[in-house]
Amino acid sequence: MAEKYADIIVDISHEKVDRPFQYRIPQELAEAVYPGVRVHVPFGSGNRDKVGYVVDISERADYPIGKIKDITSVDAKGITAQSAQIRIAYWLKRQYGSTMIAALKTVLPVKQKLRQLEQKKVTGCLAAEKLREAAAACEEKRQTAKARVLRALADDEELPYELIRRKLNIAPATLQTLERQGFLKIETESIYRNPVKHVAGEEKRIVLSDVQRTVIEDVMRDYRAGTPHTYLLHGVTGSGKTEVYLGIIEQMIALGKQAIVLIPEIALTYQTLLRFYKRFGDRVSVMNSTLSQGEKYDQIRRAAEGDIDVIIGPRSALFTPFPDLGVIVVDEEHEGSYKSESAPKYHARETAIQIASMHGAAVVLGSATPSMEAYYRARTGEYKLYEMNGRHGNSRLPDVHIVDLREELKCGNRSVFSGRLRALIEQRLAAGEQTMLFLNRRGYAGFVSCRACGHVMRCPHCDVSLSEHGNGKLVCHYCGYEEPRRPVCPSCGSKYLMGFKAGTEQIVEAVRREFPTARVLRMDADTTRTKESYEKILAAFADEKADILVGTQMIVKGHDFPNVTLVGILAADLSLNRNDYRAGERTFQLLTQAAGRAGRGDKAGEVVIQTYQPEHYSIVYAAKQDYRGFYEEEILYRDLMQYPPVAHMLAVLFISAQQEAGRALCERLAALVNDSADRYERGGRRLQVIGPAQAAVGKINDLYRHVFYVKHGDYQVLVEIVDTLELFCRENEVKNVTVQYDFDPMNTY
Ligand code: ADP
Ligand code: ZN
Ligand code: ZN
Repeated sequence: MAEKYADIIVDISHEKVDRPFQYRIPQELAEAVYPGVRVHVPFGSGNRDKVGYVVDISERADYPIGKIKDITSVDAKGITAQSAQIRIAYWLKRQYGSTMIAALKTVLPVKQKLRQLEQKKVTGCLAAEKLREAAAACEEKRQTAKARVLRALADDEELPYELIRRKLNIAPATLQTLERQGFLKIETESIYRNPVKHVAGEEKRIVLSDVQRTVIEDVMRDYRAGTPHTYLLHGVTGSGKTEVYLGIIEQMIALGKQAIVLIPEIALTYQTLLRFYKRFGDRVSVMNSTLSQGEKYDQIRRAAEGDIDVIIGPRSALFTPFPDLGVIVVDEEHEGSYKSESAPKYHARETAIQIASMHGAAVVLGSATPSMEAYYRARTGEYKLYEMNGRHGNSRLPDVHIVDLREELKCGNRSVFSGRLRALIEQRLAAGEQTMLFLNRRGYAGFVSCRACGHVMRCPHCDVSLSEHGNGKLVCHYCGYEEPRRPVCPSCGSKYLMGFKAGTEQIVEAVRREFPTARVLRMDADTTRTKESYEKILAAFADEKADILVGTQMIVKGHDFPNVTLVGILAADLSLNRNDYRAGERTFQLLTQAAGRAGRGDKAGEVVIQTYQPEHYSIVYAAKQDYRGFYEEEILYRDLMQYPPVAHMLAVLFISAQQEAGRALCERLAALVNDSADRYERGGRRLQVIGPAQAAVGKINDLYRHVFYVKHGDYQVLVEIVDTLELFCRENEVKNVTVQYDFDPMNTY
């Protein structure tokens, strides 16, 4: 039998993982030694006995064999909380093709000296009635920010300062003014305690609907039986999903278990946070990007020591080391931010399911527009599916109009606003209501389409949009296929075959030109370089300091603006013609979300979708808010092209300072994978290599990027391919090219 070696870290912490020590695994311990296990080893020149953790196993010695010492024994304590984290890291490494060091760094917290933590709170100084009167007076004077704070304090006498600042979008100066005027007090407490008071009896106790009760009962029954599952709640915003999460967590806490709740930061609203605080008081903790490393570390310590039961946060909250985890909730599971952009490029949904299975915990996913992955698995029976229909409360779904831009061109309208959209904006301006105009340029890669008939130039092999390059060629960024730019449309002969040039700035100019009296705000990557500027724009719009907000996809998420009654999507084609296979799915999600922005308050909302492809199923079904209809069409496309979730896809990315080195290795490895295709034939499912090609963004920071993709129905085959490629790079001592892996990528490279 081949010798085996173990990488061992003597002091397991985020800071020390760069320096593992290698030991030989004696034959008699071969079975007992695996990642996560605690072992005794002889350490240093004196061979002192030390306890360390096995983080990785290999059949290859990194040092001369004679210099490698043996593991003494497996520690009697065996598995600890840290073992569990190492096992997760090991799974991340295997599943997503990263190094063990990168995986450990993802999972282990950064240790920081704890300074005295302090928490500010805001307390109302007048009776609720008086505060409401003052709020009404502020509203008269159009001081909407002040009114928002006063109303919040009328409902809850005491609130965390951060919640008011960040989630109600209130400037510190406004709070200070209100303090001077005697409406409220800002106090600092040195103990880390959640200041939301449980206001007994004030939390409205609702009667759960049949579906809500069923989900909670099913989850708890399965859990008690020791067979927890993954559950998918499909329901529009407002259909009562959060109420279900709260119900499940409440029962888990009663059993002495803990809960992790993932919510994309951008979707974490004041109202939602407050509901968690009210239900669970100071047993809940919120993790977000405004926390310092020290504050994050403190939260993790409190979780490990049993001081809290619930943690709410983005992707990284997954790795909170709770002693007895009962459930992981992944809200808005379709969100792109759940996929990590740096190695290991893990997906929080898949990782949540893995972590839950190690703890015997349940996973509850929720979305108004489930990812194709989640819905596919729900349909195949891997997840349990619950459809939550209808909204609670009185808000209605908005009226959606699809405008055919080809018709506008025929009528001689070359403006970015269709006749319909212009008329509706004018109505809103006259009525003193607000409009959001949305231009999605994210992932925009220069597609070319016909303004007369809507025809889009697509790759004949990959069925994704071709991108226009400066050299006059149209290029596919999956397979590298190219063709010359044509003067006229191949479908109708029109000469209006062109790329899409307008950006948010041009839209703002157009608004100023066509609606001179309107007050406009712009929100995109340029205007939101800092967190403050982002919040400032949102606050200004919430305070009705503008009539029209023009922005990129960042404006469609999470924010409630009750006075917005019109949403215009200026060119749905921008996301429809992204150069990757998720374009249709993204469009459906974005349009559905954008539509959800209109009419959040008591007033009915309207949505205008402008497009050159009004017959495209993503648009048609989004307008009807018909998720199932969309899914059925989209899954046919995925199946036909063998794209995820029907099959799996691996992106292999090469980054190099010398273009030639990157290209050569990319071609060499693509050929290597191609040659092994026969070996991976599984039940008629074959391996397919796409590319090699230059990446869509061919050069970033002076580093060249090349890529190829591998598709196969079996995920494990792709894992084996990564092993093969790693081995090749090691044996050939590849140094000047960095190779990165991305499983089921969310974006095109
Ligand atoms: P989602 O998470 O799907 O957006 P929520 O759970 O936030 O939905 O519910 C939306 C609103 O409806 C909330 O104000 C909630 O309190 C209320 N609600 C939810 N379920 C019920 C119910 N069974 N009866 C009455 N109101 C409900
Ligand atoms: Zn045409
Ligand atoms: Zn192609």
